[in-house]
Amino acid sequence: MKKQYLLAPGPTPVPPDILLAMSRPIIHHRSPDFIPIIQQVRSDLKWLFQTSQEVLTVAGSGTAGMEASISNFMSPGDKVIAINGGKFGERWLKIAQAFGVTPIEVKVEWGKSVDVNLVADLLSKDDSIRGVYVQASETSTGVAHDVQKLAGITRSRENTILVVDAITALGVVNLPMDEWGIDVLITGSQKALMLPPGLAFIGVSEKAWKLQASAKCPRFYLDLKREKDNLLKDSNAWTPAVTLWIGLAESLKMMRAEGLEKIFSRHARLAKATREGVKGFGLEVFAKDLPSAALTAVVSPEGIDGQAVYKNLRDQYGITAAGGQDQLKGKVFRLSHMGYSDVFDVITAVSGVEMVLVRMGYKKSPLGSGVAKAQEILIQE
Ligand SMILES: *Cc1c(COP(=O)(O)O)cnc(C)c1O
Repeated sequence: MKKQYLLAPGPTPVPPDILLAMSRPIIHHRSPDFIPIIQQVRSDLKWLFQTSQEVLTVAGSGTAGMEASISNFMSPGDKVIAINGGKFGERWLKIAQAFGVTPIEVKVEWGKSVDVNLVADLLSKDDSIRGVYVQASETSTGVAHDVQKLAGITRSRENTILVVDAITALGVVNLPMDEWGIDVLITGSQKALMLPPGLAFIGVSEKAWKLQASAKCPRFYLDLKREKDNLLKDSNAWTPAVTLWIGLAESLKMMRAEGLEKIFSRHARLAKATREGVKGFGLEVFAKDLPSAALTAVVSPEGIDGQAVYKNLRDQYGITAAGGQDQLKGKVFRLSHMGYSDVFDVITAVSGVEMVLVRMGYKKSPLGSGVAKAQEILIQE
């Protein structure tokens, strides 16, 4: 037997109560039984997004939310700033191009956060830029971008929206949508929301709805206005992913019971313990600026292939972490501490890394030195 531990930055583990809720017999989405679910989800998503606006739920992975955030708010020929600091930043460029939208790329060295002044500069020189697209947490590098500062720049511009892929940040760190002035805020079900893959969520500000009315990119299934109009009547435009919605209602109940502040402080603590843990074992964290609180990308030590670390974690100990993508393939491995994650997930991760590396010939630090460091942090209240 090999016990399995899912410590990848998505999909993440699903708590038993949510699995149980989703195992109940299916109900019909137009039946009276589904209405209280819609009502609860509407109100709890507003709470989670910290907004008074309606949050739309669509059936699709996180990328559906990213695509909707181009197709609903832009017209072919529009210019947008796409902040590209990794694999997911790159996706903005590809989606924009697919819709005939012109991305102005702000390339950020992998491992670093965007220089907000560069964005401010570009915007000040061109009134016609309609959007700034960014990741709150770039999952390929484990780095966060400063969303609050970016919102400070876009907020006063009537025709420029700030679109934030918070797929590994919402429900991890504080992103008060209304207070900061984030216009489009996106997340997915399989990361911090502790659900299986299959749902994307999109919060939309008043300013963004105004742009939506005149945006000409083609859209049908992902037409957010249609979903919003239905939601206001406690119904959905299409057949919702009923089972995932039932799980979602349960997940939001759990999150409300914990409270936003505790959710954020738990993630901050787990992230810090992971970083200090791997450093205590002599390893280096890949993030050079703001590290993400959702996951930690760890630099694979000299002479040791990061992909082999990730494979050995899985094959020797049943720990599913993640390797590096593209230019980071073989150079890093990534450990998640987001969603349904607690003290002993961090201990498992750091301890597993130590055991695997020592078996691969790593001699810099003795077994347990990283775990001890993580424990020192986790033992504090
Ligand atoms: C997981 C993730 C996505 C969405 O990927 P899907 O595979 O479509 O769910 C987008 N952005 C970031 C930052 C992510 O971590």
